Amino acid sequence: MPMTSRTAIVTGAARGIGAATARRLAADGHAVAVVDLDEADARSTADAIEAAGGRALAVGADVADETAVARAVERVAAELGPPAILVNNAGILRDNLLFKMSADDWDAVLGVHLRGAFLMSRAVQSHMVEAGWGRIVNLSSTSALGNRGQANYAAAKAGMQGLTKTLALELGKFGVTANAVAPGFVQTEMTKATAERIGVPFDDFLAHAAKETPVGRVGQPEDIAAAVAYFCSEDAGFVSGQVLYVAGGPRA
Ligand code: NAP
Repeated sequence: MPMTSRTAIVTGAARGIGAATARRLAADGHAVAVVDLDEADARSTADAIEAAGGRALAVGADVADETAVARAVERVAAELGPPAILVNNAGILRDNLLFKMSADDWDAVLGVHLRGAFLMSRAVQSHMVEAGWGRIVNLSSTSALGNRGQANYAAAKAGMQGLTKTLALELGKFGVTANAVAPGFVQTEMTKATAERIGVPFDDFLAHAAKETPVGRVGQPEDIAAAVAYFCSEDAGFVSGQVLYVAGGPRA
C-alpha cells in the first residue's frame, strides 16, 4: 500500500528507542513531533531528522502534566498538522525491591508511563476521530510479565497492555488502531543506568543479556522502531489491540 504522509508524535524521543522511532517514522515520510521533557534535548533528534531531509518539530512537555500535554498537542496540530500517529514511549525507571520502594517512586513510574499515555491518547484522539484514521502505539515491556525489583514498572507496563486493548475497542470504529510493542533488553541509556545502579560494567551487563537472549544479541533501538513503524503503517489497519514482544525470543 502506498505510504501517506501523516503527522506523528513520539514521546520521550530525545534519545534511545523514542529517538530511533522518530527517525524511522520520518524516514517513512511522516512529519514528526519529537516530544521530551526538555525541548533542547528534543531538538537534537529533530535536527537529525531535518538534516536527513525530513520534517520535525521539537516540543518540550512532561507527559504526566495535563496542561503541558494539551498545550503540546495544540502546538503540534498548529505547526505540523493534526496528529494521526501517536507513540507513547516516554518512560522512567525507579527500581527497588518492594519493601524498599517508596510511594513516590511508585507514583512517578505510574505517572509517566500510564497517566502519560492516557493523557496523550486522550488529547490526540479527537484529531484522529475527526480524520477517521489513527495509529496509537504504546511501549510495554517484557517486564509486564513480572520482574524482580520492578513492582512499579511491571505494573505500569502491564497497565499499558490493558490501556492498549481498551483504546482498540473504543476507537476502532473511527478508523483508529491501538497496539503495544513490548521490548526485551535494548541497549539504551535506560539499561546503562540499570547497570550503573547495580554496579556492573555496562559491557558485562550487555554480554550477559546477549547470552540470555535466544538470538544471541541484545536489542537496538532500531529493532523496536521497526516494529512500531509496522503498527503505524497503512498495511496494519486490521491489526488492533495486539501486544508484540520484540525480545529476540518468545517472552510471552
Ligand atoms: P531512555 O533512553 O531512558 O529514554 C526515555 C526518554 O523519555 C528520555 O529522553 C526521557 O527524558 C524521556 N522522559 C522521561 N520522562 C518523561 C516525561 N515525563 N515526559 C516526557 N518525556 C519523558 O529509555 P529507552 O530505553 O529508550 O525506553 C523507551 C521506552 O521503552 C520506555 O517506555 C521504556 O520503559 C521502554 N522499554 C525499554 C526497554 C529497554 O531495554 N531499554 C525495554 C522495554 C521497554 P530525560 O532524559 O529528560 O529523562
